[in-house]
Amino acid sequence: MISPIIDENTIERLRALINGVQRIVITCHKSPDGDALGSSLALCHVLRRLGKDAVVVTPDMAPKSLEFIPGVRDIVVFTKFEMRARRVLSDAQLIFCLDFNSMKRIDRLAEVVEPLNVRRVLIDHHLDPEDAFDLSISFPEASSTCELVFRTLMQMGLLRFLDRHAASCLYVGLLTDTGGFAYSCDNPEFYEILASILRRRFDRITLYNKAMNTFSADSLRLQGYAINEKMQLYPQQGVALITLSKEELERFNYNRGDTETLVNKPLAIPDIYWSVFMREDADRIKVSCRSQGDFSVSDICARYFGGGGHENAAGGEFSGTLDEAVALFHQVLQDLFPETYSAEQSTTQQQ
Ligand code: 5GP
Ligand code: MN
Repeated sequence: MISPIIDENTIERLRALINGVQRIVITCHKSPDGDALGSSLALCHVLRRLGKDAVVVTPDMAPKSLEFIPGVRDIVVFTKFEMRARRVLSDAQLIFCLDFNSMKRIDRLAEVVEPLNVRRVLIDHHLDPEDAFDLSISFPEASSTCELVFRTLMQMGLLRFLDRHAASCLYVGLLTDTGGFAYSCDNPEFYEILASILRRRFDRITLYNKAMNTFSADSLRLQGYAINEKMQLYPQQGVALITLSKEELERFNYNRGDTETLVNKPLAIPDIYWSVFMREDADRIKVSCRSQGDFSVSDICARYFGGGGHENAAGGEFSGTLDEAVALFHQVLQDLFPETYSAEQSTTQQQ
């Protein structure tokens, strides 16, 4: 049995909000991942089947690697079609905010969304959601926003509108946000939701392969290079660091999404329980962290890299050079492990 975890009052309010409007915009965080896109597109499919004019507006482009999700081509991308995105948003009567907890996460789109005089509904599973929403369905213990979209539809009695297309979108989010059903899926109800989705009979194997095991040759070579030549281990602290500079990324014809799962790889090494990946993007250093067990990386990302996320998967940014970001990482090691880590190790510990 899938328990109704969302309180009935919230469901009733949401029903009234949806019934009272025609034009609905759904948005999600910048650099959208499988959960952000899957949850937004699934909700959009269902709302359209309910007869609503629903549109997904994302702050920036979906990576090429996720273009297979049904409906991705209909998304209005703010950085690409700014005028159209502004028009759709100014016409909207209700906005769903999916898979993010703070308006900062939608980047420049926040300047457009914030002044609008329309209700905002949050559906999300990140820690510490901002108080910027009229209605909040926030469950950090949930596997994914896709799980929460399913639960919301279930409690609203709308599952009959969840067709094969919407189900495949939800599947992508459930799959990718749990690293292929590896973590954040201890709740048995997760598998009951999965079962209900699978009954919609989409091509699960093709979706699985596209979401989990499809990389370009350049991307595979880049990952091989990163692990072989750039992975630095700090065995005493159980930590791994990989950095990739702009020049290195260019050498492997980097496309967005090419390093998506790289940060998970060092956790395969016994006794490595915190993995950090730093990538030099055009205007900032993107920081990604993954951890195992009760070592929480969301606080570290919030404190040192202006970011956040989940206990075992979080990220942030650094403005400065890659060398400066690495220096800050060494500072973090020193703060966290004052007994075992000393600054001189940072220059000698390369493996
Ligand atoms: P990733 O490392 O795959 O980019 O992100 C892992 C998790 O951390 C995701 O749940 C994502 O939402 C969160 N995250 C990544 N980057 C940022 C960031 O810059 N700010 C915040 N608040 N969260 C982030
Ligand atoms: Mn998510």
